[in-house]
Amino acid sequence: MGFLIGISGSIIVDQGGRFPGYKRAYVNNDYIESTALSGGVPFVLPVLEDEEMIKAQAESIDGLILSGGQDVNPLLYGEEPTTKTGSPFLARDQSEQLLLKHVIDHGKPVLAICRGLQILNVAYGGTLYQDMSDIKESFIKHDQYNNTSDPSHSIMIKDGTRLHDLYGNQALINSFHHQAIKDVAPGFEVSAWAKDGVIEAIEKQGNQFVVGVQWHPEMMAKEHTSMLNLFKLFMEHVQQSAVKKVII
Ligand code: MN
Repeated sequence: MGFLIGISGSIIVDQGGRFPGYKRAYVNNDYIESTALSGGVPFVLPVLEDEEMIKAQAESIDGLILSGGQDVNPLLYGEEPTTKTGSPFLARDQSEQLLLKHVIDHGKPVLAICRGLQILNVAYGGTLYQDMSDIKESFIKHDQYNNTSDPSHSIMIKDGTRLHDLYGNQALINSFHHQAIKDVAPGFEVSAWAKDGVIEAIEKQGNQFVVGVQWHPEMMAKEHTSMLNLFKLFMEHVQQSAVKKVII
């Protein structure tokens, strides 16, 4: 016990109340609860600029959860922003790209969720669709809007992947995204698709546990054991890689 799980944070700006415009560092509490329920010690990582500090964040944790949030700045994957893209947050993109690089270089496990999957893909050379309407074949509602813990569409899972070991050929997931992966980053493979072909999960090739999912397992984990099991699988890898580090 006692494995530290870093959860990448964001900044929220007060829209009213006593301090309009005041900035607060935060993560959604579901990430913290899901981490704790699966046996990890949650540790919120704020957005930083200084690479040495980000490196220290990466060194201090045993595993990383990249949380959801803003659209990735399209300039990072070589595109101009279209009118359908959301408000970017470049400082967070840069902070998380550096964090990812250092965590992955240290051989530590990563679970990347929603925007997390998107920044993971972009950080390693992949691209995104800036809006689901840019995908001609897409006919599924990928933003269920509310009812966070309810599954809303199915996914098909590729044989031989970590997700397949966990769920078999199919699973039911929630969906709150208006962007999706276009080109998959080199060194990664797609492990799940929605029935309209939209990419729902990627995994890093090789032994290191680096899994990105387009849905929000942390919102389902309390009501649906299967989604808590994704955190538990991540935690098993965290324990293994931390133990290996001690032996070396
Ligand atoms: Mn979806």
